[in-house]
Formats: sequence, C-alpha cells, structure tokens
Amino acid sequence: MCRIVSGINSLQQHIATLRSRPEIYRPLRCPSCGHGVLWHHGCYSRKADRRPESMGDCLNPIPIPRYRCSSCMHSCSRLPECIPPRRWYSWLLQQQALQSLLSIYSLHGCSVALGLCRSTVRRWWNWLSSNTSTFEFFLRSRYPEWGRTSDWPPFWRTCLNCMPLSSVMAVLDRDGVAVP
Ligand SMILES: [Zn+2]
Repeated sequence: MCRIVSGINSLQQHIATLRSRPEIYRPLRCPSCGHGVLWHHGCYSRKADRRPESMGDCLNPIPIPRYRCSSCMHSCSRLPECIPPRRWYSWLLQQQALQSLLSIYSLHGCSVALGLCRSTVRRWWNWLSSNTSTFEFFLRSRYPEWGRTSDWPPFWRTCLNCMPLSSVMAVLDRDGVAVP
C-alpha cells in the first residue's frame, strides 16, 4: 500500500521533514489507477498530538500533505510512521498495551496501568491475534533471525523487543499488507 513514510518517528520530525524534504511524502503511483504523476494538492490536518492543549506547546493541527492523480483525479496521502492510519491512539501506547498483555496477560491490570478503557485494549489484542498469521508470514520472511515459535505471543514478544510497533507496521505496509 505504501501509505506510511517510514523513519519519521515524531511529530516534530514530521513537521521539519515537511519543510525540508516534502517530496518524500509523494506516492510513487496512484493507489487507485497506478498512474505515476501525482500533483501536490494542499494538506489536511490531523489532531495527532495527544498532549493536552493547556501544556502550551501542543503541535496540533498536524498538516498531512495530499496529492491528486493527474489521470483519474483521485486524491491520496501518506502518513509519517509516527501517526497510525485510522486510529486515535499513538502506536507507542498501543505497543505498551500489547507488550503488557504479552507479558502478564491481564486485561484489567493493563487497562488500569495505562488509563485505557478495557474494551479498547481488548480490541487491539483481538486485532493482533486475528492478523497474526498474515503479519507473521511477511515479517518472518524478512527477519528469519526472529526464530520459529509454535505459539503467537512469543513471536510478538521477540518482534517488539527488536523493533517498535510503528516500524513493524511501516514494514508491513511496504510489503502491501493493510495496516492497522
Ligand atoms: Zn489515478
């Protein structure tokens, strides 16, 4: 899919990169028709900075550059690695919740410790569990050194010890897997 621009790990880095190298956000091909010429088409904004606005240094609204295909006129955009597509919570918080569940397996303890609603944590867990076979297939072919395990939690423990969840998702996105 290539909807994620990998290696951009913070909102500050995203804003600086937009100023200095905006071209890295431009998709190589239109996701709708495959045409290779896309025009810059303004920006839309995301409230990706979850810190309270009262702190004063809140970065919202975060601009996300948009592109329009010169052939089919479909518009599209790519997100920096630090902003998850279609999800409100940061990758980092999702990773903390998943790693907590992978080590202690307590939905209640995890939701209390991170101040999250239990249903949210359960949804992330179910998402990981139900997508594991696809994710694991692509990740293992890239990182055979992560070894073979018969069960899926040990695989994710190894994976998330080696790489942040945001980078794992960027790798899968580059391989054409739909994330999250
Ligand atoms: Zn197109």
